[in-house]
Order: sequence, then structure tokens, then C-alpha cells
Amino acid sequence: MSPVRSRFAPSPTGFLHIGGARTALFAWLAARASGGQFVLRIEDTDRERSTPESVQAILDGMSWLGLDHDEGPFYQSQRFDRYRELVDQLLAEGKAYRCYCSKERLEALREEAMKAGEKPRYDGHCRDLTEAPEGIVPVIRFRNPDEGTVVFEDRVRGPIEVANSELDDLVIMRGDGTPTYNFAVVVDDMDMNINLVIRGDDHINNTPRQINIYKALGAEPPVFAHVPMILGDDGARLSKRHGAVGVMSWREQGYTPDALINYLARLGWSHGDDEVFSRQQLIELFRIDDVNRKPSRFDTEKLNWLNQHYLREGDRVPVLAELAWHLEQAGLKAEQGPPLDDLLAVQADRVETLVELVEQSRPFFEDFEQFEPGAAKKHLRPVAGEPLASLRERLAGLDDWTPDSLQAAVQATADALEIGFGKIGMPLRVALMGHGQSPGINHTLWLVGKERSLARIDQAIAWIQQRAG
Ligand code: GLU
Repeated sequence: MSPVRSRFAPSPTGFLHIGGARTALFAWLAARASGGQFVLRIEDTDRERSTPESVQAILDGMSWLGLDHDEGPFYQSQRFDRYRELVDQLLAEGKAYRCYCSKERLEALREEAMKAGEKPRYDGHCRDLTEAPEGIVPVIRFRNPDEGTVVFEDRVRGPIEVANSELDDLVIMRGDGTPTYNFAVVVDDMDMNINLVIRGDDHINNTPRQINIYKALGAEPPVFAHVPMILGDDGARLSKRHGAVGVMSWREQGYTPDALINYLARLGWSHGDDEVFSRQQLIELFRIDDVNRKPSRFDTEKLNWLNQHYLREGDRVPVLAELAWHLEQAGLKAEQGPPLDDLLAVQADRVETLVELVEQSRPFFEDFEQFEPGAAKKHLRPVAGEPLASLRERLAGLDDWTPDSLQAAVQATADALEIGFGKIGMPLRVALMGHGQSPGINHTLWLVGKERSLARIDQAIAWIQQRAG
């Protein structure tokens, strides 16, 4: 496989959304899989819609996902001289021309075509003007070939053929000197030696036009691969309604980068029936030709399942870093609780996201104000007083604060009092957590820690006494 030079070329007009992230991932994988390079280019020629915040959101999203680039980020807004230079070249060679048509004229053309049930297209009115009308700032149009066909082999969609008679002379530079997308993208992919263009299939109709521009510039077009769109769970095009917001909002919802990467890779690409792929495996196995040409459906359940998988079995370091971030978001201080590794080991089986994990772990980091009334009423009854007091004594003398010895201590207390484990387990749980939900009681004690456990048992005993008295 010869080294791929691919790129991700987002327009910074919003977040890095899930579709964009998947396109970026495929392009990144294609480069990594072949030992090639991945280029990041910000297509910010639309000065009105591009914002610095969106640029930042894209850079943040890419770096959070771990999709590192070898070159860039390049900004189209810094390359206007280059576009101008090549526009001048095309003008000089007669491959482009100035168009002075008014908005009204173009609008009338459009309406006429619509009425006739035809595709609106520019009629070439200014193609062969010999005199420039005065006082009008022209746009520059590309002189598309009249005859022949454009043929290319899309790596996802297969062979595509479009007759030049279907294509009109598109605007490549606006009156204000800014290039249009179809021109700038060709100049950049050419200058940056991109040999594989992976992008959303909303651009498939642009491709024949772009190929003609490559040829006019004397360049070899790259190979194209247009990936299908992503649909929501309900089969409709993925939109904000489906939570299709920025990648960083997936972070806020408690997904880990490795889980998302794995999930995104499987949105449209497959390798047998396997679902779980590490980054390294993806790099080894990914081939753009294996991308399915049918749209894929977003499946939140599968993402949740994968996320839990990565919480349980994924690479610890990135997961722990995310966990620390989430604690901070929740206003908790990592140093005031158990080692995060221990916390993760216990909680990962019980949750699907880091948000749930943190929410269910609050009492390991901070004291609670009061017992949840229902749980206290049910479990902190006078009959629980003795078991709690007896266990407290045993725990106070326990030096080895490990899940195994804690389990043994609770069991020994239950045995000594000849009561069932649950008779002590539930009151203890409420004493330690403030409510009735927690991991196994020995793990709960372990995570709460010795000093805090003893203090909380005291607090529960006091509560029981007060209630009795
Ligand atoms: N800036 C274009 C977009 O965001 C990129 C198209 C391309 O990759 O050629 O849709």
C-alpha cells in the first residue's frame, strides 16, 4: 500500500459534529494505516460564517479524540494570494473568464429553468465577451469543457460518470476576491499533495467539477472516497434533535475518546462481525474500500455498551484522565477521595458513562448533608443500632482496609450476632452513602475509607438513637 496523504478540511461554521468526526477518523486511519500523512486544513473562506470559536471547537474536538495531524492546521484565509495567482493563470490561459451578469439576470435564468423543469445552470453569457461592461465588479467563472465526460472511480461508491453537458461554468472567485469552495479545495489538495480525498457524500456532485479544475491546472486529481451520511436511531438524517451536537458534548455526557473512536469507526465500516477495535487494530485493519455505501444509523445503545466496555477494559490512562476531568466538572476534588484506579475498578461494572459514575460516587469524595429520608426510615431503625455499633468496633481495630478483610469483618459481625448479612448490610450502606444504592458493601467501605466510614457509622448510630429517643 503506497502512503496515503489524506486530509480533514472542515469549514469552521459550527462544532465538530459526529459526522465530521467520523470523516476525520476515516481520513486519519487511511493515513496511519499506510504510514502516510494526515493534514488538517480549516476551510474558512466564508468570512461571515466562520468563527474563531468554531475553529477552536474543531481543534479541541480533534485533540480530545486523539486524531493528531502531521501538517497544519492550514487556513484557507491565509492563502488568498495563492488562489488569486492561479485564477490569474486560468484567466490568462482562457480557462476562466470574468462574468458581469447581474443578480437579476441570473435569478431570471434560474426561474426559467425551474419553470421548464430543468436544472438551473449558467448559460455562458459572458464566456466570449470582448468588452468589459463598465462599473461592474465581475466574478470569475471556470470555463468547464463543453464536451466529453468526467469519469472517476469512487473508492466507496464505485465508478461515476458525468457528462460535461451536465456541468455549467461555476464561479471560482467572488467579486470581493474570495475563492469559492470548489476552487480553493482543488488548489489546496493539489498544493498539499493530497492523494486520497475522504469526505461526506454531500460533496459527490462537486467532484466532477473539481476534477475538471485539476485538469485545467495541469494536476492529477486525487482518488476520492465519499462516505455516506449518518442517520439517527429513527432513520432520519442525524440532526441536533438526536443530540448530534459537538464532539465535546459527547465528552460532557461521559463518553471516553476510545469508545467514541471505536464507535465512529463502526459507523459505516466493518471487519467481520467484530465490534470492539482498539486504535491499533483499527490502524491495522482499516481500508477505505471496506466502507459501506449505505448510510449508517446512529445507535446510542451500542455506543453506551462500548463506552462501558472501555470503562471496564480500556486503556486505563485516558479513562482515568477523563474521570479526573469529570470529577472536577462535578465540583469534586480527586484528592479527597479514593485512588481513581480503585474507584474505576469498582464502579465500571455499574455504569455506562463517566457522568453516571461520578454521580454515583459523590459520597466517596464529600460528606452528605442528610440521609435520604425513605432509606433512613426503612434501614436506620433501632434494630440496626447494635449491629452497626458492633461492626464499628471491629472495623476500628482493622488495619488491613482491603475488600477481602472488610468482607470478612462484616460477615464475622453478622455471624457473631447471628443475623443475616443483609440485616447489617443495608443499614451500613445507608450509613456510608446516605442512601440505599452502592457497590458491594465491602467495596463501599473500601472506597469510603476507614476514617470516614467510622465517622459515618457514628453519625448513623446517633441518628438511630435520636429517632428512638
Ligand atoms: N469544507 C468542506 C466541508 O466542511 C470540506 C469538503 C471537502 O472535504 O472537500 O464540507
